[in-house]
Amino acid sequence: MKERYDVLIVGGGHAGAQAAIALRQRKFSGSIAIVGDEVDPPYERPPLSKEYLSGDKPFERILIRPATFWREREIALLTGQVVTTVNPDAHLVQTDGGAAFGYGNLIWAAGGAPRRLACSGHDLNGVHSVRTRADVDRLMGELDLTERVCVVGGGYIGLEAAAVISKFGKSVTVLEAQDRVLARVAGAALSRFYEAEHRAHGVDVRLGVTVDCLEGKAGRVTGVRLADGTVVPCEMVIVGIGIIPSVVPLSVAGAVGANGVLVDEYCQTSLPDVYAIGDCAAHRNRFANDAVLRVESVQNANDMAVVAARAIVGDPERYDAVPWFWSNQYDLRLQTIGLSIGHDEIVVRGATTNRSFSVIYLRQGRVIALDCVNATKDYVGGRALVLDGTIAAPTALADLDIPLKDLVNRTPVAVVA
Ligand code: FAD
Repeated sequence: MKERYDVLIVGGGHAGAQAAIALRQRKFSGSIAIVGDEVDPPYERPPLSKEYLSGDKPFERILIRPATFWREREIALLTGQVVTTVNPDAHLVQTDGGAAFGYGNLIWAAGGAPRRLACSGHDLNGVHSVRTRADVDRLMGELDLTERVCVVGGGYIGLEAAAVISKFGKSVTVLEAQDRVLARVAGAALSRFYEAEHRAHGVDVRLGVTVDCLEGKAGRVTGVRLADGTVVPCEMVIVGIGIIPSVVPLSVAGAVGANGVLVDEYCQTSLPDVYAIGDCAAHRNRFANDAVLRVESVQNANDMAVVAARAIVGDPERYDAVPWFWSNQYDLRLQTIGLSIGHDEIVVRGATTNRSFSVIYLRQGRVIALDCVNATKDYVGGRALVLDGTIAAPTALADLDIPLKDLVNRTPVAVVA
């Protein structure tokens, strides 16, 4: 006999957990289950490349809620099960273990799987990704036997891992195919700053290099061969080259989408009673000049979860949240607000040499995003500028004597003659 839940959530990450929490906060009294392929209860992912990897936070401290929370709220956690098929007509999903669950509404919150290297040697022992607790536990278990680590990919996760592992006294090389780190998400000023910081901490940052293959001996990685024939010797490789959204069962069931599942402003997919939220959900975002994209952040996961929950309880509100993000590397706290996609001008506020500055992105004169390094006041003031779509003079934005909040546009008062 199959079980049926009024709301079935696939994926027990940030988005899935928050959807269940938001439903109960909005007095939803129907049955809720979260089916997740990981064995652990929902936990925070960002610490995996930060405080959990460094050992500063044990697993219990990165749980999204204590175990008792789910029981008390009658949210069933069906862990260790992979949903393999969705039947939208029958309102039914099936798992790899042969279980079937019926649903009233389905919330697809399956995130993404780390993109793997396609070259030979990608499956050698010692090659890791950083997406789940199990990934990080495996990696940490090998660190004692490791002197040299190659990080493939100079995005946030790769750089955060490089910062933590270099602090352990390991020799770390970052291999980035583009001519700067963080090229996909930030302007050159921020990239150059982080490259210099990593080098100052002893990390060998190599730009514009392509991985040809991974070399190994007795099934274990021994080095990374680059396209120019150079071999970087190492005992461990960490691959941080992005994710592939986990949407196959939904796509096979007919959900519209290309890069992820397409959702409307209420996080509804093209399938009846099926929502998609978080990293796997492609949506039109006004902070990206109305481009359709996926946003990979805790903010997006949590805010989309609330939107889906509100739609389900009959109190709909459109998704219109301003994107924000953070990254910790060494003693640097980066806080990002807005999306810099499509910027045509950059203003650097403060001196990067002070290790406290902001990079401000403008499109057609309007402030669309900020990357604030050890500059929380700019982040707070900048948030108002982004929300407001403020048009501001670059000289004013760069002037440290003018708090950013003072530049927020004021609606002109109509003068009556
Ligand atoms: P996930 O958290 O990935 O959860 C999806 C869950 O669904 C996973 O448990 C997955 O295993 C499961 N699943 C997938 N397919 C199935 C299936 N078929 N059946 C059952 N279960 C399935 N964001 C920030 O804002 N700030 C940060 O500093 C930051 N740092 C990060 C550091 C790391 C190492 C990582 C990996 C991510 C980081 N992020 C950060 C991104 C952020 O964690 C993600 O955007 C967020 O976790 C997305 O939530 P989600 O619920 O959509 O996906």
